[in-house]
Amino acid sequence: MRQNPLETPIKFLKSVGEKRAKLFEEELGITTVFDLLMYFPYKHYDRSRIFNICDIQPGEALIQFKGRITGFKTIEARNRKILSATVSDNTGTTEVIWFAGHSWITKNLNTTTEYLFFGKPNLFNNQISFAHPEIEPLEKYYARNNFTFSPVYSLPEKFRKNNITSKHIQELMLQALSMGEAFLKDMLPESVRNDLGLLSFQEAIRQIHFPNNHNLLKKAEYRLKFDEFFIIHLTLLYRQQLRKKNIKGFPMPKVGYFFNQFYKTRLPFELTNAQKRVVREIFNDLKSGKQMNRLLQGDVGSGKTLVILLAVLLTADNGYQSAIMAPTEILANQHYKSITKLIGPLGFNVALLTGSTKRKEREEIHSQLRKGKIHLLIGTHALIEDTVEFAKLGFVAIDEQHRFGVAQRAKLWTKSEQYPHVLVVTATPIPRTLAMTLYGDLDLSVIDELPPGRKPIKTIHYFENDRTKLNDFIKKQIALGQQIYFVFPLIEESEKLDYQNLMEGYERISSTFGKNLTVMLHGRMSPKEKEESMQKFIRKEAMIMVSTTVIEVGVDVPNATVMVIESAHRFGLSQLHQLRGRVGRGDEQSYCILLTPYELSSDSRKRILVMASTNDGFLIAEKDLTMRGAGDIEGTRQSGLPFNLRIASISADQKISQIARQAAEKILEQDPLLENPENTKLLRVVNNTKNGNLSWSMIS
Ligand code: ADP
Ligand code: MG
Repeated sequence: MRQNPLETPIKFLKSVGEKRAKLFEEELGITTVFDLLMYFPYKHYDRSRIFNICDIQPGEALIQFKGRITGFKTIEARNRKILSATVSDNTGTTEVIWFAGHSWITKNLNTTTEYLFFGKPNLFNNQISFAHPEIEPLEKYYARNNFTFSPVYSLPEKFRKNNITSKHIQELMLQALSMGEAFLKDMLPESVRNDLGLLSFQEAIRQIHFPNNHNLLKKAEYRLKFDEFFIIHLTLLYRQQLRKKNIKGFPMPKVGYFFNQFYKTRLPFELTNAQKRVVREIFNDLKSGKQMNRLLQGDVGSGKTLVILLAVLLTADNGYQSAIMAPTEILANQHYKSITKLIGPLGFNVALLTGSTKRKEREEIHSQLRKGKIHLLIGTHALIEDTVEFAKLGFVAIDEQHRFGVAQRAKLWTKSEQYPHVLVVTATPIPRTLAMTLYGDLDLSVIDELPPGRKPIKTIHYFENDRTKLNDFIKKQIALGQQIYFVFPLIEESEKLDYQNLMEGYERISSTFGKNLTVMLHGRMSPKEKEESMQKFIRKEAMIMVSTTVIEVGVDVPNATVMVIESAHRFGLSQLHQLRGRVGRGDEQSYCILLTPYELSSDSRKRILVMASTNDGFLIAEKDLTMRGAGDIEGTRQSGLPFNLRIASISADQKISQIARQAAEKILEQDPLLENPENTKLLRVVNNTKNGNLSWSMIS
């Protein structure tokens, strides 16, 4: 069987060879002609326009002009010689200069041929000149039609060192196209392409490298971005569908004693409409007989804990156990306390299992769990690593999921013969389209409403030298009985210095406001010390908590009304928002004070402005997304984007993502298992797409 030219190793291309082929493989993961074609340029120079010399302005971009050389001269400058040529068309004259290679130039260029020059206009001695432009006979340029935009490829450092230029890649691309273009197969059914007016894959690949015009370039970009999103959505939706079909969930049809008693006698407030809606969505899943996989999003303070608890109670009413996993011990403790307090004397058994649970107690919990006596187990990561066995685990809530990797989540399933229902809970709101791309295989519930009566937090920007003013304000708040957080940045790269700042900050703050009123909380303290600090603060023995971002998630002390963020310019937007969410939980007016130095980068300034102008977590997430790009978004950075995108931007191309999702939905609606012959390629794409790598299996 003859090999598909797309699978030809690139070492067989002209001017490549073993050594360069190895560089391509090591630096860019390119081994075949197909891989090469999938290496897209990051920009193009517009070579469709030839400037009149009189229209040339000095500037950034590379441009073309044509003309004849009217004469050469050599200029002595400092200790080197510069060769200069005067070039004219019939509109004017300009200067071309060379710092090296003079004899080659004068031998090979003449004053009779009309040339095309391509280079960057610089202003030198008040005159426009071009240094070392690309030059070729004008005739040759015209002979090479279909070459109006020239692609520019990004080059790994090692390419530069080995003299592989963008121009080389461009030449290889021409070879690759002529070999393989005809063999590029389109994965998209024609109907989809027609409906959406998409270029064919083959056309898109040609145009992305060598576009005929600007419009076709845009269309090629659109098609290839579409493909990336389409593959993601189709894969996620297809998997979701298979799971729903194949994996049974524990049926939980019954609303019983625990739920009803809690609702009637213990619920301290009316649920918000958003909470009611989300509870309904979750309950529908639980009783459906299918396994729930749901993402619950809600801004800080929107009351997610209560929603989780209601699901836990329903689970117990149906004879199953639940687990809640929190990212930190502090949070697990806090969940344990607030949940046991909420539940009160209902005869509902809750246990807490963390890294610092004593051995004896741990063994007791293990045994009770196996016997099915514990209704709800709350814990940290330890819960999955541990040898915990449940009698009948039916529901798992993973709180603040961005601290958990996907692999860790999967481990949970070994705790149960059948997959339990899973609710992933996050307080890092992400825009809907992004959520769909990141968690497209989960169903989505959103609490988009805060409990009533919350006063919006006032956010104020102070400079370091406003500290006296700040101290007066803090003293007043303490006198009013309000509690205060001071949070210091702590990042790994500068951990030592950051700890030093934290300690100095603690000294300063405790000597200003009183040592016995001030406690500290940071990662180097033992769990016991941390718990003591926390308890002192909760019991109002201490009025000020000086800490790192360990308090970022979930900590709930309604009497704390002031959040002072030290060096606020060093925090990201979503982190600032999480921190701010620690206050504003009670009836009193709350404040968030952002402290920064006077000098700020423009990005930091923007972040501070955004914080001061809105309390809406979803809006902030949008801003964060556009300012930083998704790879950086708190949460996605740790868990990683599920797939690498080579051309689409998850933030800038949300609209395309949406359209691609709709297209994928439509296909699966008509052909859920992709059995239809026109969807064969799609089935292969879906089956070959692994985490991290999109399958572009267009090779037939
Ligand atoms: P988060 O969504 O950040 O986890 P919590 O569940 O900790 O929020 O809730 C924040 C606070 O709001 C808690 O003190 C909780 O008791 C309270 N709360 C939750 N739901 C309501 C409601 N419907 N009405 C009034 N207060 C509520
Ligand atoms: Mg919470």
